[in-house]
Amino acid sequence: MQFPKNNINKIVSELKKEVKMIGLVAPSFIADFKYPSIIFRLRKLGFDKVTELTFGAKLVNREYHKKLKNSKKLLIATPCPGIVDVIVKKYPQYKDNLIKVDSPMVATAKICKKYYPKHKTCFISPCNYKKIEAEVTPEVDYVIDYSQLKQLFKKYKIKKIKGDILFNKFYNDYTKIYPISGGLGKTAHLKGVVKKDEVLTIDGIKNVMKFLENPDPKIKFLDVLFCKGGCIGGPYTSKLPILLKKRKILKYLKKSKTQDIPENKKGILKKASGIKFASNKMYWDK
Ligand code: SF4
Repeated sequence: MQFPKNNINKIVSELKKEVKMIGLVAPSFIADFKYPSIIFRLRKLGFDKVTELTFGAKLVNREYHKKLKNSKKLLIATPCPGIVDVIVKKYPQYKDNLIKVDSPMVATAKICKKYYPKHKTCFISPCNYKKIEAEVTPEVDYVIDYSQLKQLFKKYKIKKIKGDILFNKFYNDYTKIYPISGGLGKTAHLKGVVKKDEVLTIDGIKNVMKFLENPDPKIKFLDVLFCKGGCIGGPYTSKLPILLKKRKILKYLKKSKTQDIPENKKGILKKASGIKFASNKMYWDK
């Protein structure tokens, strides 16, 4: 599979030419990179701005809330393009159950393009499936995976940097657990929308397929991710045990709750007004 947006030479040449670029860091980054060192390092590489996807995830959650509230049939989470791909190709009978809402990556890229229309966006990815999604997302200009980023840091001798720095804009704390299996369901405020026993969280594609082949009719919401453990188990993430990576995410969440984030950096809803995060026609319909 070709990923034209994953053109490292072009990305580096743009950064060297001082083309203004925003790095959109996937939420599992904390399992592989130190925070806030990652922000300094990306800036040193030439990124003008660096943001995470937590505000995008919050907006995605709001759409899930609406969809689940108004649905009687089984709905399947779609932030993971790996799940979408398997369903479209192997289980097309479930295609209509896929939730037609953007992923946090797409939602964040849309917000970035609204606020910084002249900037290019580059998604920093834990897997190839997100590269496929980046290719079909007009708001994402480039994509690079964790292992390619580590190689670039090595090539340009950009080591871990200590100090205090914040991401540019769009902070949200509780959605930091998105890359953990069940992170979406836990942060979408589904109490009163679906009953506890109507939600099923599954990670690992084999387990997901088992359910699809033998579905439980009681389930209304399938909160699923392709990789074992969720995005922290993505193929370009480190080989650390999942439990350890999970701990890092939870520690990051805890730290973020104590952080004093200036008002102008917070992901508040009015910043996304006018942007649509749900559509009748998603990339898998084309
Ligand atoms: S669960 Fe795996 S395949 Fe799906 S988006 Fe996350 S890292 Fe990619």
